[in-house]
Amino acid sequence: MTLDRSFRLYNSLTRTKEDFVPLEIGHARIYACGPTVYSYAHIGNARMAVVFDVLARVLRVLYPKVTYASNITDIEDKIIAASQETGQSPEQITRKFERIYNEDMAALGVALPDIQPRATETIPEMIKLMEQLIERGHAYVAEGHVLFHVPSFPEYGGLSGRSRDDQIAGARVDVAPYKRDPADFVLWKPSTPEQPGWDSPWGRGRPGWHIECSAMSEKFLGLPIDIHGGGADLKFPHHENEIAQSCCAHGHHDLAAFSRYWMHNGFLTVEGEKMSKSLGNFILAHDLIEQGIKGEVIRYVLLSAHYRQPLDWSEGAVEQAQKSLDKFYRILDELKDVADISVPVPDGVMEALCDDLNTPKAYAELNVLAKAAHEQKTPEAKAALVAAGHLMGFLNENPAIWLAANTSGVDAAWVEGLLNERTEARAAKNFARSDEIRDELAAKGVVIEDTPQGPKWKVA
Ligand code: AMP
Ligand code: ZN
Repeated sequence: MTLDRSFRLYNSLTRTKEDFVPLEIGHARIYACGPTVYSYAHIGNARMAVVFDVLARVLRVLYPKVTYASNITDIEDKIIAASQETGQSPEQITRKFERIYNEDMAALGVALPDIQPRATETIPEMIKLMEQLIERGHAYVAEGHVLFHVPSFPEYGGLSGRSRDDQIAGARVDVAPYKRDPADFVLWKPSTPEQPGWDSPWGRGRPGWHIECSAMSEKFLGLPIDIHGGGADLKFPHHENEIAQSCCAHGHHDLAAFSRYWMHNGFLTVEGEKMSKSLGNFILAHDLIEQGIKGEVIRYVLLSAHYRQPLDWSEGAVEQAQKSLDKFYRILDELKDVADISVPVPDGVMEALCDDLNTPKAYAELNVLAKAAHEQKTPEAKAALVAAGHLMGFLNENPAIWLAANTSGVDAAWVEGLLNERTEARAAKNFARSDEIRDELAAKGVVIEDTPQGPKWKVA
């Protein structure tokens, strides 16, 4: 496949928009810092998952091979605290919330990353990295801990642009007496017999959060990778520390020796404040889905602002997204008898997305395509709208089902499932079951009309 379009990406490391060129010809390697799985993901977490999903989708159009890794942090103090509170083992908790995270993200149209490594399955690689850091004089052992010595890496702070004073003030850790420098951070810490732990040259313990991503990224994607990212809150200290660990373990001073491009999504906010568990202003993706808000609608809101801009969550934004998608589905429903053909993603949409994932511009293009499909009613115009929608993760539902579900508040997929069962029951002359289904649907106000094309339904 020839590349006739370049992808431009704002690189947080150089603070400029650059032409993206993968290191390995035809293969883009991406790593995004994934969730700590001790409870449900909020929609701020979901914004990150959706943004990187779109990045991977666009790069897959441009390059023959994309490897997208996003980790699961399944060892962390919050997990241990949740285990103490609930009496469940850390593994029970993390496996449960990993599954729920993947289900919730799937509902938002997020494809599973190609690789989803778990921190607990990468411990030997973390130990090796720490040994390399100690050997090169960048880390030291103190009271069962292994610490990274920040002054040993003069380039430290280059990603976030923080001064040394800011670094110390911003470090999310108490200054423990065993630290040689207040900015030093923990790579490994001892575990009590009740806490989860692994044997290491420094005794039984567990890794700090930062070393996990350095080890997982290198193990699964090599060194350097093309794009590393996550939410803007991770720039400091998490990503700064990842860079320090991965560069120093291999004797590099060039900050791009770990990842060549850095990408950070802006915060999802509520009334201007960052959505976070600690502030208590969070909305769970899981709850919205359970309330019957469609995954595509949530996704549409999450991509409605450019990924680097803040995005304020509001009911109005949800209503607006619903209206926009309804309009597209209505047009597709009108065109249900127009043949389905396959066309490449239209240039306007591709150009917008290749310009640092400009989703607001892509939405404007989607509206142009919708208008054209409505007016022209041709297979080409219909297919262009569908191809553009699919690339961004929209218009995956049957238009009739989408529209029916909206007007009635009844779950259309549930109705369709029962109607299929009823058709089968009637074919098998099981009229008792067929009547039972009719009654079950009637109880929800669903009226069935049998037509030569099969049963039709509406809410009375
Ligand atoms: P956490 O589970 O808190 O480590 O977060 C998982 C991912 O979600 C990280 O990449 C965070 O940067 C991102 N994230 C957390 N809160 C927000 C928010 N309010 N807006 C956007 N991204 C967020
Ligand atoms: Zn990370």
